[in-house]
Amino acid sequence: LTQPGTMPMSSMSKEALIGTATLGVVFTVGVWIGKKYFHPHTLSSLLKSHKMKNDPLMNYVLDHSLREHSVLKKLRLCTLGHPKCEMMVACEHAQLMGNLARLINAKKVLEIGVYTGYNALNMALILPDDGKVIACDINEDYISIGKPFWKEAGVDHKIELRIKPAIQTLEELLTAGEAETFDFAFIDADKVNMDEYYERSLRLLRRGGVMAIDNVLWGGKVLNPDKNDLDTQSIHRLNEKIVQDTRVIVSMLTIADGVTLAIKI
Ligand code: SAM
Ligand code: CA
Repeated sequence: LTQPGTMPMSSMSKEALIGTATLGVVFTVGVWIGKKYFHPHTLSSLLKSHKMKNDPLMNYVLDHSLREHSVLKKLRLCTLGHPKCEMMVACEHAQLMGNLARLINAKKVLEIGVYTGYNALNMALILPDDGKVIACDINEDYISIGKPFWKEAGVDHKIELRIKPAIQTLEELLTAGEAETFDFAFIDADKVNMDEYYERSLRLLRRGGVMAIDNVLWGGKVLNPDKNDLDTQSIHRLNEKIVQDTRVIVSMLTIADGVTLAIKI
């Protein structure tokens, strides 16, 4: 069996060593990340993540731009051991959002779709001490993986969890009079409700507030949306709407799985 590699600062492809064990024939293939061995059943999830592709240019980008807080890195590596790790936000994408939030002096952030909370932690780390991330998810099991890291980083008091369908949380925030009070919103939950999240987040954002919408390219499926594929249909419909939406200025970035930045005018 191969030896564990030592872990460089950034790119996952350098961190992963494909290991084989043989007894005449290959009987297992796994991955070492740092000191942790990943069983073959998690390997396919890992390989789906663009961070695991052996792309020298991507490695170069990460090596020359990623400034990842040590606890954030720990959470990323821990999440990579989870069977649904492909759901985690890309680290370079999270860093961009953190930089934008810093630029606009964000204090109040909406996270729609938390998973293990990589981006919730990323945002909490850059917010001032009285800043807040309102973190919306329906799955407490995923969140329980991230929580100890939020605590370790000393920013758990800035992350306010709302465990219920995100539409309900957004409606409650609007009813509570919080329209136009948020600085930043990240839409990254289920895809069929993307427009519901977009409309409500737009009302919750202040003028000049930034919305980031993830997975707008959906692995390229938006080029030819299957009429039975509701996720792709929903993403494509929202993409078509946003480009015409005069309430926002917009950029669609090809980072990760495609990210639209919509800034409220
Ligand atoms: N932003 C996360 C990160 O920083 O790694 C990744 C989020 S993951 C792609 C999507 C999350 O949306 C999952 O944790 C899932 O439980 C959650 N989700 C799915 N449907 C939801 C809903 N109706 N309301 C709130 N959260 C939902
Ligand atoms: Ca996503």
